[in-house]
Amino acid sequence: MPPLAPCDACPKPSITWLRYSGQHLCAAHLQESVERRVKKELKKQGGLPPGRIGVAYSGGKDSTTVLRLLHDVAGDRPDVEIVALTVDEGIAGYRPVALEVATKVTAQLGIRHEVRRVKDFAGVTMDEVHALDSDLGQCSFCGVFRRRLMNDFANEVGAARLVTGHNLDDTAQTILMNLCSADLEKLAKLGPHDVTKPGLVPRLTPLRVIPETEVYLYALTKGFTWHDEECPYSVNAQRAVYRDVLYKLEEARPGTRHALLRTFEELKPLLPDALARDGMRECVRCGEPSSGTLCKACQFRERIAAATA
Ligand code: SF4
Ligand SMILES: [Zn+2]
Ligand SMILES: [Zn+2]
Repeated sequence: MPPLAPCDACPKPSITWLRYSGQHLCAAHLQESVERRVKKELKKQGGLPPGRIGVAYSGGKDSTTVLRLLHDVAGDRPDVEIVALTVDEGIAGYRPVALEVATKVTAQLGIRHEVRRVKDFAGVTMDEVHALDSDLGQCSFCGVFRRRLMNDFANEVGAARLVTGHNLDDTAQTILMNLCSADLEKLAKLGPHDVTKPGLVPRLTPLRVIPETEVYLYALTKGFTWHDEECPYSVNAQRAVYRDVLYKLEEARPGTRHALLRTFEELKPLLPDALARDGMRECVRCGEPSSGTLCKACQFRERIAAATA
């Protein structure tokens, strides 16, 4: 094996080569670089306002990283309180282990941690949904319920912002998915949000500029504890196709993920104000702001009720 190239910033051996920028970095300089980019992105997204900040915390590497980075940032800010939320989708063998890890980590950090269950909201677990007719598109149910529970939670605790751990790969996949399905409305709603509609807690996504492998190396070299399993249903998720395509694109043309993010940034001001349009109506069932008579979560609850009747 050829010797590792030295770090571009010091004489130590590098642990990674960032193909899109050509940089070789050792562990300490990768950590420094990740922290610098996340702080810069957080500032660009408006920073942390005083008050409570909700963090969507699954126990995985991305949400663990964002939680710990925010915990560090908030350490210098007595006016900011971090609150972590885990949604329990009801997936046996996967979520209970992650919950155990999440409980331990938040206890160690002294962060308030709350859990909301899909079963309490939808009347069924995601395992039960997956056991139903496979035409239901189960992962979209899970995503809608999760977003709803996160937002309800953020409102309940009076959070000024809701932070998610989406990394650059997740973000580029979502942008590509929405472009490929011509869903400009969904694209327009993608966080971060600087303005929002009543009832929707604005999102911050400070990890969206960090590629997944760098989040992984950051978490690993910092010695974080996280839950490293994939959801057993993730192979069926539509996202898996986009993950593979983007992986190949990035191999062939390093920088593709960053370019997709830039495309979104340039497009966003030109997209219709989908959030404002949503806020013009209320769901007749639950009162949440909605673009139609029934919000997506209530539509899905109805479909589940019909399928289980
Ligand atoms: S893979 Fe599907 S079922 Fe599993 S957590 Fe993600 S959205 Fe939910
Ligand atoms: Zn170095
Ligand atoms: Zn509703």
